[in-house]
Amino acid sequence: MIKVKNATKRYNKTAKPAVKDISFQMKSGEFIYLIGPSGSGKSTLLKLLSKEVTLTQGSIQVDNIRVEKINTSKLYVLRRKLGVVSQEDIFLPQQTVYQNVIFALQAVETNYQQIKERATAVLSQVGMLEYSEQLIENLSIGQRKKVAIARALVNQPLLLIADEPTANLDVKSAVEMMKLFLRINEMGTSVMIATHDSTMVNSIRKRVIELSNGEIVRDDKFGGYTRFSDPKDVYVW
Ligand code: ADP
Repeated sequence: MIKVKNATKRYNKTAKPAVKDISFQMKSGEFIYLIGPSGSGKSTLLKLLSKEVTLTQGSIQVDNIRVEKINTSKLYVLRRKLGVVSQEDIFLPQQTVYQNVIFALQAVETNYQQIKERATAVLSQVGMLEYSEQLIENLSIGQRKKVAIARALVNQPLLLIADEPTANLDVKSAVEMMKLFLRINEMGTSVMIATHDSTMVNSIRKRVIELSNGEIVRDDKFGGYTRFSDPKDVYVW
């Protein structure tokens, strides 16, 4: 479903590449953790998939789309295949949870009943249905993250991408978040998560791709125990 071949990204000519000659494939239904120290290229790799940043060299295929070849007018076709939960969740703050979720859907779906059904289904999936009429600004960080996930799922993407989704969450909320990603994956959506969260990586064992200085230094299909170099990332659950 995703094929990344010799992908390199340089933000400018003089800097070292943020992502360097990366190749891997992801099958439909897979769950991948992308790990590595800060600055190792995780966010860049995720942004290359959605063409938020453009490749310098190499190729990326998402389903039947060659990302480096698609032109701007067709980007929406690519973006609909991907549900993205970025580090900064940008919402319409004065609007309700429900309005924020349907905002993403209104551009594609015009049938009011269908919009309502989809929004209700994803809000229920993330456990936020009872908060539908709350304003975003009244929610906790963890609740906002769940709304961001609902919004990312509303167009029924093939792949859900999340960049550090458990950052800033307490352990209880982080565990809840982990279980949510697992359920989403079990329902058929592929999931790719960039994370520092060793608890998550070591308690729900899934494929681990580790980056260092923009290169893949490990691709462990069976998600063996992962040692984290940064002591602040290691906490026992
Ligand atoms: P990670 O997500 O693992 O922390 P990033 O992909 O954010 O890593 O960063 C990889 C490298 O690319 C870093 O050296 C970072 O400084 C650089 N980088 C990231 N974004 C930009 C940008 N917009 N412009 C220039 N350099 C960038």
